[in-house]
Amino acid sequence: MTQKKQRGQLIVLSGPSGVGKSTVIAELLSERPDIYFSVSFTTRKPRVGEADGVNYYFVSKETFEEMIARDEFLEHARYVDNYYGTSLKLIREKLEEGTDVLLDIEVQGAAKVREKCPDAVLIFIVPPSFEELSRRLHGRHTDDEEVIQGRLQKAREEWKEIPNYDYLVVNDKVPTAAGEIMAILTAEGCRTKYRTELMEGV
Ligand code: ADP
Ligand code: 5GP
Repeated sequence: MTQKKQRGQLIVLSGPSGVGKSTVIAELLSERPDIYFSVSFTTRKPRVGEADGVNYYFVSKETFEEMIARDEFLEHARYVDNYYGTSLKLIREKLEEGTDVLLDIEVQGAAKVREKCPDAVLIFIVPPSFEELSRRLHGRHTDDEEVIQGRLQKAREEWKEIPNYDYLVVNDKVPTAAGEIMAILTAEGCRTKYRTELMEGV
């Protein structure tokens, strides 16, 4: 089957809360500003330093439920008492114009993306150890102990979903993790199915 890569690549990044996804994404985007980061909608309250429209669109539960009813999400999920969702409208345009789009979403959302967009690349990020994950969650100073324990419990459940991902990256050092993701994206772009034009006319 011939298939030219006219559309952008959909990239899904998942991993336990506190593993360093936002940190690695910031490093990745500084090297690859051509990638569009999809800002999700959430009912979670902003953390110190987070801004509306930058980290998330922070909305009420009512607004989120109205968006679900209007079928505005590519995927959405409940995660530790809050809703999170990816706006279909915002990313569709980017993919259609050929821009690569990066989603930072949890495992249920990633499974829905896999179903709806089989060409998406799914990458899971893990910490070097579970103890280090706990240290990072505590060191971030953004959540109280109960929330942290909830997130650590969630991490144990998420771990089981790793086999459903295409790639596994360890976030020991941020530049190394970002470098591995860039290598994955380079390899994905070299897939024969996206390079049919190079196989023609010989
Ligand atoms: P996530 O987006 O996955 O919830 P964050 O990016 O907020 O995680 O990172 C959680 C905490 O861990 C932050 O305080 C961040 O500075 C720190 N962190 C991220 N990556 C690393 C790393 N490779 N080594 C040490 N600390 C890190
Ligand atoms: P946090 O509250 O730490 O910012 O995010 C909690 C979890 O929600 C993380 O695992 C993050 O990847 C996930 N998440 C963020 N946005 C979305 C989204 O739009 N959809 C889904 N399914 N998960 C999301």
